[in-house]
Amino acid sequence: MKNFLAAQNTEALSAWCEANGFPKFRAKQIRQWITGKFTADPDAMLNLPGSLRSGLKEFFVTPAVTVKEIFSSPDAVDKLLLELHDGEHIEMAVLPAADGRKTFCLSTQVGCPVGCRFCASGQNGLKRNLSTGEIIEEFIAGCAHIGKKCDNIVFMGIGEGLLNCNELFPALEALVAEDGFNLSPRRITVSTSGYVPGMEKFAGLQKEFNLAVSLHAPDEETRAKIIPDTLRFPIAEILKAVDLYREKAGRMVTLEYTLLAGINDSVAQAEALGRLAYAHHAKINLIPYNATGTAYRRPSREQIEKFERAVASTGASVTRRIERGSGKNAACGQLRIKADGQKK
Ligand code: SAH
Ligand code: SF4
Repeated sequence: MKNFLAAQNTEALSAWCEANGFPKFRAKQIRQWITGKFTADPDAMLNLPGSLRSGLKEFFVTPAVTVKEIFSSPDAVDKLLLELHDGEHIEMAVLPAADGRKTFCLSTQVGCPVGCRFCASGQNGLKRNLSTGEIIEEFIAGCAHIGKKCDNIVFMGIGEGLLNCNELFPALEALVAEDGFNLSPRRITVSTSGYVPGMEKFAGLQKEFNLAVSLHAPDEETRAKIIPDTLRFPIAEILKAVDLYREKAGRMVTLEYTLLAGINDSVAQAEALGRLAYAHHAKINLIPYNATGTAYRRPSREQIEKFERAVASTGASVTRRIERGSGKNAACGQLRIKADGQKK
């Protein structure tokens, strides 16, 4: 498998230039196109000689990601359906925040092996991991779309990123590197379904990235209804890893909680959740379920508000994900499934 151009840092590109008979200063120019102008397509790199452009195309996979379709919704969320070099699809979302700020929601895998029962991304299992270069190109596709670097990144698109640490971590490194995209780790959040070995590895980075853990239930019995056994870890182990993360990264962890009517939305569950979050110095983010064609339903507005008040009554800090992209295809993973359906 050829290397991905977007994953090469200046040092690696210098070495490649030297080995292939090009002056080393070209490496900086190539990096400038990728990190400053958000393109990994050698044909767009106009200040490079033709021989270098074709050399890059021959040696590297590039561009590895192309924008197939853009979906805009009235609430200003843009979703990009991206095609990978092997014809697979992923999606990313651009979420608006106050004063023109933008948050990117990025994918880490093609499909997902965890298979949470309410989630479109895991419906057909895992196809493959994304490579470091593909994750970086996903990010630059978003930057090119908005015409600037984004302000925040959440890895809450398709896939379980902490099952793909080998490719995700170098991408994180590039996002925060000075000669890369120079983002603050405090502006980057990785979300996990609670894959404990990955949480421990993430803590080992000892960087101020944010960790979000999709808990969805305060007790094993409820959680087992939502997440299949194969990759589900015991809540006690997850909470231990949450404590470890807070200590090593020095960041408060967020517990995500997708609200499913009649499954995990009772006041008793809210209070149990609040107590547990309080004890582990974690904050809670409630996510009302977006319909994906499963048997689950979103709780009523009243029930969601009741749940939120019950959590808050324990002293825990709780926010609710602002409802966005609540139109058709709003939930992550749906665009990809549709694109795959058309492919067949
Ligand atoms: N695999 C990781 C990250 C991707 S999913 C994880 O599970 O955390 C990111 C978040 O989106 C998770 O909290 C997940 O529960 C939530 N989510 C996925 N599909 C959803 C849907 N249809 N409605 C509401 N939240 C959803
Ligand atoms: Fe995978 Fe996250 Fe979807 Fe679960 S919620 S299937 S872990 S992407």
